[in-house]
Amino acid sequence: MKNIYGLTLNYLESYFIDNGSKKFHALQLFSWLYEKRVESYGEMTNISSDMREKLSSDFSIDRLKIVDVQEDVDVCKYLFELYDHEHIEAVLMRHDYGNSICVSSQVGCNMGCKFCESGRRKRVRNLEAYEMVLQILMIEKLLGERISHVVVMGIGEPFDNYDNLIKFFEIINHPKGLAIGARHITVSTCGIVPKIIEFSDFPLQINLAVSLHAPNNEIRNKIMPINKVYPIETVMDALKIYLKKTNRRLTFEYILLKGVNDSTQCAEELAKLVKEMNCYINLIPYNETNNIDFKRTNTVQIMRFYDILKKNNVSVTIRREFGSKISAACGQLRSKKEDL
Ligand code: SAH
Repeated sequence: MKNIYGLTLNYLESYFIDNGSKKFHALQLFSWLYEKRVESYGEMTNISSDMREKLSSDFSIDRLKIVDVQEDVDVCKYLFELYDHEHIEAVLMRHDYGNSICVSSQVGCNMGCKFCESGRRKRVRNLEAYEMVLQILMIEKLLGERISHVVVMGIGEPFDNYDNLIKFFEIINHPKGLAIGARHITVSTCGIVPKIIEFSDFPLQINLAVSLHAPNNEIRNKIMPINKVYPIETVMDALKIYLKKTNRRLTFEYILLKGVNDSTQCAEELAKLVKEMNCYINLIPYNETNNIDFKRTNTVQIMRFYDILKKNNVSVTIRREFGSKISAACGQLRSKKEDL
């Protein structure tokens, strides 16, 4: 049975029409779910009891289970249990501009990035759109506060679950849905070229981030197996199409790994690679994990790397660190829970 939280307004409009009812009830339903936030069909009093009966026999209104919460000063991490007893996690970060949440898109991940905890477990399945929507809805409820920003940077490769991702965006962005502005939503990909191109035609102005992590194929092949399928030059070509079509600015994420991709030569090469692209680079201090050998670059070298990019007129920021104390790096909490 489908879950109601994964259905877009368009889908629900056709549903009501197909069932001999009126289209506008779809908007009322959306308002019950996302504005008034009732948790049962019985409370939706402006929808006829016959239609409510029909809805409850067609669509489940079940939520996820929150099985663990770990709190730190400005970050909070939630472990969810899904209907099939799989676990995923979401992280809430408190910024001065609002609350942002990092959502997962898959159970496990097939991309196999060598430095990443999530990739240590192969993909079990994609998350359904409702499982992404509910990460936000349920955290908002627990918190009693609105979430203003969403990043799809948790477990999984979102562009490997494209159709559900798009439904998720449509639901959370809709003014009668969670009403989160497209410019406050960011999706991060390791560089699935055909989907980058497809995404350039998606009408909502959602931000794109690309996990680059290396300035050339030689290094990238060693740490990101996906690079053998879509080498750097093909990713760059796709991004140029994306930039041209959308007129937006994109983000490159670059984790600094000691002795792997953090030399001054890498910084020079990186500056050349992104020259003349409308982008900025987000340098990420590596969050070390117990299970993986990579080490973080020390602060002096991070600053050196940063300065070289600056000198070459590249826009660059260093990511503020959240949650290293509470295992907030991708997949760490789930790993602990399942003892992987
Ligand atoms: N699959 C997508 C999104 C999930 S990962 C992607 O690859 O972009 C989100 C970001 O966290 C990626 O840039 C990833 O490379 C990075 N990341 C993974 N493990 C990390 C760690 N231990 N420390 C810092 N960043 C990490």
